[in-house]
Amino acid sequence: MIPPPFDYHAPGSLEEALTLLGRLDDAKVMSGGQSLLPMLKLRLATPANIVDIGRVPGLDSISEEGGYLRIGALVTETALEENATVAARYPILLDTAKVIADPLVRNRATICGNVAHGDPANDHPATMIALRATMVATGPDGERSIGVDDFFHGLFMTALQPGEILTEIRIPSPGQHSGGAYLKLERKVGDYAVAGAAVHLTLDEEGTVTQAGIGLTNLGMAPIRASAAEEVLTGQHFGDHSGLRGAFRRVREAIARTPSDDELIAAASQAAADATDPVADRRGSVDYKRNMARVLTTRAIHKALERAAARTPAGG
Ligand SMILES: Cc1cc2nc3c(=O)[nH]c(=O)nc-3n(C[C@H](O)[C@H](O)[C@H](O)COP(=O)(O)OP(=O)(O)OC[C@H]3O[C@@H](n4cnc5c(N)ncnc54)[C@H](O)[C@@H]3O)c2cc1C
Repeated sequence: MIPPPFDYHAPGSLEEALTLLGRLDDAKVMSGGQSLLPMLKLRLATPANIVDIGRVPGLDSISEEGGYLRIGALVTETALEENATVAARYPILLDTAKVIADPLVRNRATICGNVAHGDPANDHPATMIALRATMVATGPDGERSIGVDDFFHGLFMTALQPGEILTEIRIPSPGQHSGGAYLKLERKVGDYAVAGAAVHLTLDEEGTVTQAGIGLTNLGMAPIRASAAEEVLTGQHFGDHSGLRGAFRRVREAIARTPSDDELIAAASQAAADATDPVADRRGSVDYKRNMARVLTTRAIHKALERAAARTPAGG
């Protein structure tokens, strides 16, 4: 289909982009265009003006500094996949990028656009929830930081105000004994999720979970934080998890007296499923999607624990 007519603007600086957004009526930001252009073609969006920030310099860097991974507005999925720091220290981000669409889309689609779109079917929002990311919005009055829990307001609705650009996502650097994983069920490669689960766990020296983050994809009108599931895991000692055995001497000693890890993980996964509110559609019934939320959360917890163990000195 052919989009409705619009005026196209290609600012050469962030200041120019913000000025245009402030001056023009009914303007939309465009980054990679991988969600916006389909919406225009389907006439689900009909903005009078498009402000393409693709040529704005200085927005395409990924760096780890000041205790954060900083992802600029124009960092594409491909750039994320090819980044050495991300590969070494943020495997949950790689899990997420690799299951989005196909390489052609990923060459243009940006992480910030994925989040700014506010689509609960998009994959990065759940991961950002698990990682407790902060969104940096730049508008006419400067920058403001928005915690991920205050960012998603509903279907295609976020905390971004008209005239603001999501210029950066900040992700806290992982602690030594931490690990995360994103798992997605899709009907075929490149499809949006039937369901997805992101889990990020931080453990102390003893193998006790000090912080748990669990986000869910396409299981409600907005991306979901499974708070009750996080509470089930927080403070628990994962002694008999196979991945931790070689990593923690004291954990090994405690194996005999810990409750079954499987019981804890099952309770957390059920709590995650209970937090969902899916709709029945071509991807499945409500019951099926809830059950997949449970199954994916279980698997993501196991993988997160394994990765946390691998990040101990003993685990390498
Ligand atoms: C065939 C296909 C398959 C796909 N499959 C998946 C999938 O499996 N999983 C998945 O998560 N996504 C999928 N997508 C969607 C796509 O990956 C994301 O939505 C895309 O990454 C959005 O980023 P973008 O840079 O292209 O944003 P754009 O399309 O340019 O913009 C999307 C929206 O966000 C706003 N926006 C963009 N950037 C900013 C910014 N910096 N500040 C403020 N507002 C902004 C725009 O105004 C617009 O409303 C698919 C897309 C296609 C075409």
